[in-house]
Amino acid sequence: MLDTSLTEPRAMNPLDAVTSFPAQDGQQTELPCGPWRARSLGSAAADIDIAIDLGNRAMTVTSLLAACMSDAQGHPLDIEQVWNWTLNQRLQALIAMRLAAGNPVLALQSSCTRCDEAMETALDLRMLVAEPVSPRFIWRDGEGMELMLRLPTGRDLEIWMKDGIPLHGQLLMSLIESAADRPLELSTLMALEPKIDDALQAHDPLTALQLQTSCPACGHENAIACDLEVHLLEGFARDQAGTLDDVIQLAGAFRWSESEILALPRWRRTHYLRQLQRQQETGAWA
Ligand SMILES: [Zn+2]
Repeated sequence: MLDTSLTEPRAMNPLDAVTSFPAQDGQQTELPCGPWRARSLGSAAADIDIAIDLGNRAMTVTSLLAACMSDAQGHPLDIEQVWNWTLNQRLQALIAMRLAAGNPVLALQSSCTRCDEAMETALDLRMLVAEPVSPRFIWRDGEGMELMLRLPTGRDLEIWMKDGIPLHGQLLMSLIESAADRPLELSTLMALEPKIDDALQAHDPLTALQLQTSCPACGHENAIACDLEVHLLEGFARDQAGTLDDVIQLAGAFRWSESEILALPRWRRTHYLRQLQRQQETGAWA
C-alpha cells in the first residue's frame, strides 16, 4: 500500500504567501522574497549542454543555477555569486526551477523502519518555498557562550571536495565567524558540537530535511531523512533525457536536425509528438 498523502515537513520555515506558480513551460517564477527569477530547465536550447553529474553536485548545481536563474531585470547571474549562495539559497533556487516547469510534487520512496512496508511519500515542493534564511545568525547556549555562525555555501562544498571533506570539528570551526570576545578552544568546541549541529539544522531545515510520515500498514511514525538536492538533480536529469528522447523521435519522423528541434518551444515539440503518436496509431494525421 502506498501513502500518497502530502507530508508536512517538520520544523519547516514559515510558509510564504506564494499564490501562483507557472504551469506552462518557459514561464518564469520569482523566488518569494528575492529579486531572482527562475526558468525551467529545457526552456532554452543550450540547456542540453549542461552536464548533470551527481558525482559533482556542487558544480552541477552552480551550472544549473547560472543557466536558469536571472536577476529581476532578466540578466544572468554572475557565477561567483551563485557559488557564494548558501546551500539553503541554492536549494530554494532549484525548487523555483522545478516549480517553473509546473512539476511541484516529488515522489519519495522509503520503507517502514518497523515492518519494512514500502512507502511512497508525495512531497509538495510548494510547501517548502520560503525566503532563503539569513546566511549568518547569532547562537547563544544559555550559559554565556555566544557564537556568530554562518551557513555553508556552494564554494565551501567545492573546497571541501577538492581538499577532502574536513573532520566534523574542523567543518564546524569553519562555520564559526566569531566567538564573542574570547577565542574558542578545541575542547570547548567538541563539547558544543551537538548543540551547534542542532542550531544549524534549526536555522536551515531545508539542507538536511527531515520528513514525518506514517506507515500505511502498521501506522508507525517514520522520520525520513530527505536529501532534497539529489532528488531535484535526478528530476532534472530525467527531464534532460526526456528532451533527448523527443529529439530522437522528431528527428526520425521529420528529418529535422537536433538544433532545429531544440530551438522549438516545448509546447510545439509536445504538439508534434502528440500528432506523431496519433498518426502512428491511426495511420492518419489529425
Ligand atoms: Zn510499518
